[in-house]
Amino acid sequence: MAFSERVDRLKSSLIREILAAAQRPDVMSFAGGLPAESMLPKVDWAPMPTGLGQYGMSEGEPALREAIAVQARALGIDCSASQVLIVSGSQQTLDLASKLFIDRGTEVLLEAPTYLAALQAFQLFGAECLAVAQEDDGPSLAALRERLERHRPAFAYLIPTFQNPSAVRYSEYKRDAVAALLDEFGVTLIEDEPYRELVFDEGSARPIVSRLQKASWIYTGTVSKTLLPGLRVGYLIATPDLFPYLLRLKQSADLHTNRIGQWQALQWLGSEQYSTHLDALRCFYRQGRDAMQSALQLHFSDLADWQSPQGGLFFWLRLKKPVDTRALLDQALAQNVVFMPGEPFFVDPDQNLGYLRLNFSHVAPDRLAEGVRRLAGVIRNASMV
Ligand code: PMP
Repeated sequence: MAFSERVDRLKSSLIREILAAAQRPDVMSFAGGLPAESMLPKVDWAPMPTGLGQYGMSEGEPALREAIAVQARALGIDCSASQVLIVSGSQQTLDLASKLFIDRGTEVLLEAPTYLAALQAFQLFGAECLAVAQEDDGPSLAALRERLERHRPAFAYLIPTFQNPSAVRYSEYKRDAVAALLDEFGVTLIEDEPYRELVFDEGSARPIVSRLQKASWIYTGTVSKTLLPGLRVGYLIATPDLFPYLLRLKQSADLHTNRIGQWQALQWLGSEQYSTHLDALRCFYRQGRDAMQSALQLHFSDLADWQSPQGGLFFWLRLKKPVDTRALLDQALAQNVVFMPGEPFFVDPDQNLGYLRLNFSHVAPDRLAEGVRRLAGVIRNASMV
């Protein structure tokens, strides 16, 4: 079959394979980033305005674009609704940005580790991914500067707030420093923030795009983590030099985002229930985080190092004695527990051993400790070999 050369680079997503294996009700899944089933809002959407079944604008529903712009301005992002494009989940932003910037061999800059589906999207288009080591408070500035001095990346893709998978939240200092470096070298920033609202402890820091003086940027968010991932509604906000291109790419991808989902997202974002729902979500996930932290202290203290996350959905563990965690998936599944190995989050295969990502939002807090105990057993066995 004469497929495009791109297809040679097409990788299947390990996480989607693991999620398929984890469908069995007896399996405790720490693998995905799925919201808690019990916390999905049960909303009676009716009555819906007639006319939403008709084709809509590629930019998205005007009222939703306006609402997103208002939210973004409250975060310090200088933008208007005309810069907002509603997309089919923020994953589509990554696809559109890839199409806009990446030819075979185009260099892009990202964190090590980084979001695996971003790597999948960028590499499909032939990107040469340059990784910058992640530290506890954001990327290594020395490594970032070195990369920028020696390369001409088309963009930097960063997840500064409760990064997936490392859960790192960049400090104020690093946010300013990263913005200054990107301005200095004129490199476009793609800032991905699905987890900003899922904050458990005090503190919030303005997005990096709001600190840029010169560089172009795309800021992307989603309702997947705070409302319903099945709606497939996300957004991007872009500087005016990028927006018209992204809009045309959106048109050629799918004409526009599902209007019914957009309408539902808007109803929800504008409702009084929304802030109550967010508070409940934060409280519930904080309990999950605390339950996992206690279980890890009990069962993993001798096996791994980690930071307790201040938000988001994940713990990121580094094993004291590195083993190939991907090879342990079957053994874990035999114990009815699944996790996410570190490997797909890294560009460089040398870095990938001995990490695992554990989600704490999906398994009920009262079962979580048992899952962590079983997982520790699997890892302890493997470390002894
Ligand atoms: N970016 C990051 C960092 C994510 O973790 C996710 C979801 N796991 C996405 C993008 C995609 O989200 P959406 O459902 O909006 O496509």
